[in-house]
Amino acid sequence: MTTVLAPASLEEAADLLRGAAEDGTPVALRGSGSQDMPAAPIVLSTGVLAGVVEYKPDDLTLVVRAGTTLEEIDHVLAVRHLSAVLPEDAPSRTIGGVMATGASPYRRLRYGPTRERVIEVRMSTGYGEVIRGGGRLVKNVTGYDIPRLMTGSHGVLGLIGEVCLKLWPRPPAGATIAVEDPEEAFQQMYQPLAVLETESGSLAFVEGVHEAVDAACAAFGDAVSNALEWPSPISNEHHVSVRVRPSALGDALSAVRESVPERFIAQHGVGRIDVGYDEFDADRLAALREAVRDVGVVVVERTTLDLDRWGIVPDTIAVQRDLKQLFDPSGILNPGHLPGLA
Ligand SMILES: Cc1cc2nc3c(=O)[nH]c(=O)nc-3n(C[C@H](O)[C@H](O)[C@H](O)COP(=O)(O)OP(=O)(O)OC[C@H]3O[C@@H](n4cnc5c(N)ncnc54)[C@H](O)[C@@H]3O)c2cc1C
Repeated sequence: MTTVLAPASLEEAADLLRGAAEDGTPVALRGSGSQDMPAAPIVLSTGVLAGVVEYKPDDLTLVVRAGTTLEEIDHVLAVRHLSAVLPEDAPSRTIGGVMATGASPYRRLRYGPTRERVIEVRMSTGYGEVIRGGGRLVKNVTGYDIPRLMTGSHGVLGLIGEVCLKLWPRPPAGATIAVEDPEEAFQQMYQPLAVLETESGSLAFVEGVHEAVDAACAAFGDAVSNALEWPSPISNEHHVSVRVRPSALGDALSAVRESVPERFIAQHGVGRIDVGYDEFDADRLAALREAVRDVGVVVVERTTLDLDRWGIVPDTIAVQRDLKQLFDPSGILNPGHLPGLA
C-alpha cells in the first residue's frame, strides 16, 4: 500500500524524511507526477509546497517553492517581460521535477541549460536535514555547488524545497523561420535561440530587437510566424532521448531515421534528439544504442514496455555512490531509480 504525503513546508517534509530514514522506509519523490516512478510505501508530493517566496524583478531573481508549475512561473514573470528560460513545452510540470530531471529548454543553445538557471536551492537531505546552497546573487558560487549538484539528481540525493531562479529580459520581437539546411542555419545565424530539425522540416528561432529579427528572416528563409512557435511535445506511447556530442548529431539523426520513428525533434548545436514511437521494442532500442555508443547515450523517457531506461552505468558511478552515501545514507530516496545506485 502506498501513502501519499503532501507536506506544506520544507521543514515538515524534512521531519517526514527523518522519520522514514530512521525506519528505513523507501520514499518516492513526486512533482506533477508526469514520470513513472518505482513503487514505494511513501510518496512525498510537492503538490502543496508551491508558490512564490520572493520576487525581485530589478535584481532578476525569483524564489519559488518546488511544486510551483512552469505555467505559474511564466504567469508571474510575464507582467515585467521576464523569463526564467525553462522548458517551453511543459507548462504543468513543477520546477522541482524539471530541476531534478535536468530538463532544459530548446533555448539552451542561446541561454545554457537549466543547471545555469538555478542559483540557490533549499532542500532536505535523505536524513532530514534542511540545507541551503548557492545564493540569491547572480554571481555567487563559492564552495560546493549544491544547486548544480541537485540539477539532474533525479530525486536520489534529497528533496528540493525552494529554488532561486536567475531571470532574463524578454526581447521585444521573435520569429520562427523555416530553413532548408538546419546545420547551415546553426553555423551562420547570429545567436539563434534554437535550430530544430523535425520529421516535417526544420525551424530556426530568433529573438531580439525588431530590426535584427527582420534581418534574420530576410537572410535565412520564410518567417512561419512572428512569434516562437515551438513544435508540439513528443506524445507517442514510447519516447526516448538520444543525447550525443553536438558534432555527432548528423550521424545520430541518420540512426534515428533508420529506426522509423513517428516523430523526432533534433536540436542542432546541442546534440539532443527527442524521438517518439507508436511501436517500439527492446531490439530497436538496442540498435539505436549501438549506433551512438561511441558518442552518447539513449535514455528511455516514457514507455509502456519493460525496458532498461538508461542502458549504461556511468563512469562517474563511484562519485555518485559517495554523494548518495553523504546525502541519503539510509538509501531511502527513489531507490533503484538511477543505474548503479541501490
Ligand atoms: C530519465 C528521464 C530524463 C528526462 N530528461 C528530460 C530532459 O532532459 N528534458 C525534458 O524536457 N524532459 C525530460 N524528462 C521529462 C521530465 O520528466 C519532465 O520534463 C519534468 O521534468 C517532470 O516534471 P514533474 O513535475 O512532472 O516531475 P515528476 O515526474 O513528478 O518527477 C520527475 C523526477 O523528479 C523527482 N522530483 C520531483 N520533484 C522533486 C523535488 N522537489 N525534489 C527532488 N526530486 C524531485 C522525482 O522523484 C522524479 O525522479 C525526463 C524524464 C525522464 C524519465
